[in-house]
Amino acid sequence: MRFDYDDGNIFAKILRGEIPNKTFLETEHTLAFEDIAPQAPVHMLVIPKGAYVSYDHFARDASDAEIIDFNRTVAAVCEKAGVEEGFRAITNARAHGVQEVPHFHVHILGGRPLGRMLE
Ligand code: IMP
Repeated sequence: MRFDYDDGNIFAKILRGEIPNKTFLETEHTLAFEDIAPQAPVHMLVIPKGAYVSYDHFARDASDAEIIDFNRTVAAVCEKAGVEEGFRAITNARAHGVQEVPHFHVHILGGRPLGRMLE
């Protein structure tokens, strides 16, 4: 599959510092920030700094260092956000996944019981 990255997307603009964000954690390869329209008391977005469209693009083409850093950052976000009682990690991809922003991101939701999700 070919992945065409559109660097005009809003997360690319955040990474270039063109629009503000509420940064929660930042590492060499990864940025975590607050979702602008939170669906739960904790709603963070974790994104790689590299130009990846979706989870399958990232998992296929990112370097080992980027993948490790991304996953360690997810763990650090969970720790710092205090979601000991549980959380949900979601990533949407393309049209069927109803992905709005075409830069790979994982939503971390928590801070309340989240209910059943899978339909
Ligand atoms: P998607 O549907 O998985 O692509 O989710 C995109 C998410 O990005 C949504 O939850 C939006 O609320 C969030 N979002 C869009 N623009 C911004 C922003 O500028 N800052 C933080 N979150 C944003």
